[in-house]
Amino acid sequence: MSPPNNSIIVIGCGVTGLSVATLLQSEYPSATITIIAAEIPSGQSPSADYASMWAGAHYRPTPGSTSQLKQEFDMGVRTAERMKRIARDHPESGVAFMTGVEYLEDPPAEFSSIKTGDVYAGPEDNFRVLDQTELPNGVKWGCEYRCYCVNVSVYLKWLLGRFISKGGRLIQHRLSSAQQAFDYAEESGLGKVSTVVNCSGRNFDQDRKTKIIRGQTVLVKQQYHKTVTRQNGDGSWAFLIPRPQGGGTIVGGTKEIGDPEERPRPETLNLFPDFVDSVDKFDVLKDNVGRRPWRDGGYRFQTESVGRDKRIVHGYGAGGRGYEMSWAAAERIVALVMESVPANSKL
Ligand SMILES: Cc1cc2nc3c(=O)[nH]c(=O)nc-3n(C[C@H](O)[C@H](O)[C@H](O)COP(=O)(O)OP(=O)(O)OC[C@H]3O[C@@H](n4cnc5c(N)ncnc54)[C@H](O)[C@@H]3O)c2cc1C
Repeated sequence: MSPPNNSIIVIGCGVTGLSVATLLQSEYPSATITIIAAEIPSGQSPSADYASMWAGAHYRPTPGSTSQLKQEFDMGVRTAERMKRIARDHPESGVAFMTGVEYLEDPPAEFSSIKTGDVYAGPEDNFRVLDQTELPNGVKWGCEYRCYCVNVSVYLKWLLGRFISKGGRLIQHRLSSAQQAFDYAEESGLGKVSTVVNCSGRNFDQDRKTKIIRGQTVLVKQQYHKTVTRQNGDGSWAFLIPRPQGGGTIVGGTKEIGDPEERPRPETLNLFPDFVDSVDKFDVLKDNVGRRPWRDGGYRFQTESVGRDKRIVHGYGAGGRGYEMSWAAAERIVALVMESVPANSKL
């Protein structure tokens, strides 16, 4: 079999790499898209570095006044549009819409201007600011809206299955750098590659702006029917994230910047009285520890030229909201690929 004439390589099989690979398949239907990744959504136990396997994951918008927060807010709304279609047409994907509730003990100043009826999670999200009488003790601001939750391992396997059924290739291999993918592709018979898309999460720890944010959660057997987030007065967070398709509920969680500890620490389970009112009622299935691939300033979306007719398109640094921004991030990354490789080029 002759090698494909110029394929595109995507490094990473997390939510970013899989979303990018999916969109590349629609933009370049006759090209060979290959994912190279150290870890893939198989049955094996993922490392803490494979963030996508440890996410909750729910969609919780984070409105704010900085340009980064505004951009991320828009990316969340954009991604929710596609997630709505996925949940409607493919319930087996592990994405499902439900009610989201937030309770904030110390709300940022800009929250005071948010009103019932505003677009928060997206159009038709039934957004409503909760009345003071509906708030638990200590909570100053609360709201309710329609959003989605993702059963992450089901969703990643679903994305990967679709990618492969459309002719995508998957190679499980650990690279030493994004640049090394060009040589590795030639050695593996993938032919001449001019575009490598780097969705490695943390760019091989070669970007000084990236850091890990450790997150510890617990998976419990009980299935809740809405996702709840509580911001505590001491700055910590507590959440309930149901995993659709009977995957139980994630109870969490921590956000520890730069903390490399892979083992779970003894944790106090956060109680939500309308879910369970005593720790004994939790059926703990698993302790989870993952590392969010955080980057100062947000994602790196950038094309880097690395030699004659060779480029790396960077798309990493999703931080703590990689699912919620996944489709919008993938669109930005694929747009960069298309600037260099027009869709009608002979790929
Ligand atoms: C506890 C916790 C809770 C979270 N909750 C949410 C949530 O509710 N909502 C939300 O949107 N997000 C949440 N996140 C964040 C989310 O998990 C990340 O933003 C997202 O998974 C990042 O995806 P990614 O594909 O960019 O990176 P990753 O998932 O880390 O994937 C990186 C890929 O690159 C590959 N790779 C890395 N290095 C190499 C190498 N040297 N060679 C080859 N391949 C390599 C990896 O094997 C992997 O396939 C949470 C994270 C944690 C830890």
